[in-house]
Amino acid sequence: MNDEMLTELRPNFFFVSGEQGGRFPFSHGLMLDTGCKVLVDTGFGPSRREAVRASGEVDVIINTHFHMDHAYGNQFFPNAKIWAHVSDAPALRSPEQFKAFTGFSGFREFPDFPGGPPGQMVDRELADGELLDFGDVALQVIHTPGHTPGHISLYEPKASILFSGDIDLSPFGPWYGNVRSDLEALTGSIKRLIELNPKVLVTSHTGIVSDNIPERLREYADKLDLRDGQILQHLHAPKTIAELVDMKIIYPRYPEPQGLYRFFEEIMLGKHLQRLMKQGKIFVKPNHKYKAYA
Ligand SMILES: [Zn+2]
Repeated sequence: MNDEMLTELRPNFFFVSGEQGGRFPFSHGLMLDTGCKVLVDTGFGPSRREAVRASGEVDVIINTHFHMDHAYGNQFFPNAKIWAHVSDAPALRSPEQFKAFTGFSGFREFPDFPGGPPGQMVDRELADGELLDFGDVALQVIHTPGHTPGHISLYEPKASILFSGDIDLSPFGPWYGNVRSDLEALTGSIKRLIELNPKVLVTSHTGIVSDNIPERLREYADKLDLRDGQILQHLHAPKTIAELVDMKIIYPRYPEPQGLYRFFEEIMLGKHLQRLMKQGKIFVKPNHKYKAYA
């Protein structure tokens, strides 16, 4: 493997850079080579995969969550044991559960992920607080739900390195476009990572961050309140959720397939609308239009 693909974070502990800068449908990952060979996520793309395979058998794959841009590559390591959080394991194992978690049931424009939807073994179900000891390197499981119910971050305590998965500091901001995503849980998870205050943060789509970590996580969380504010602005005049989707509030544009991104937008908007209703800031009219209290 060349240097571009691998960055040594600590002895026997590597950052694996994803193809195309780790942008969707790829993601960055980690590799531990301590006698036991461990991958954290497998969405780094075919060239990385081949290089990892050429360097020896992988014993364990830990998936930060069930999304295919993180777990798609699992199938290319058939002898590896798959570990994932207990709350995301069903969506990895079963295509039906995958649909139930994402909301894709009956959704015609679901893109055909290369390799298809999941249907794989999960050999070990992880829980919050577990210390996964691989000899030279140990990783602590930190349950950070919201993006998905069983999303985990992994913390290496000796050098204070945190892999935060899709709490990814991307300019887009947090993502919660699955029916089982949870806005409040996500806010709590980001807060927990701010309190952990790691020396180094590694994320699935933006890579290695070593400065201003708490501030950057706070800014990332603040996007959620900003979106609340933008939605409220739009609801001075009553609007249906379909009309709000047309406003492109969360996605600045809808890439192809547009139907899919509009679907994600609608789910995320729905979560903000629920929250704004709970806070007594908006109401629904009998014609299904949402309206801000003046
Ligand atoms: Zn994800």
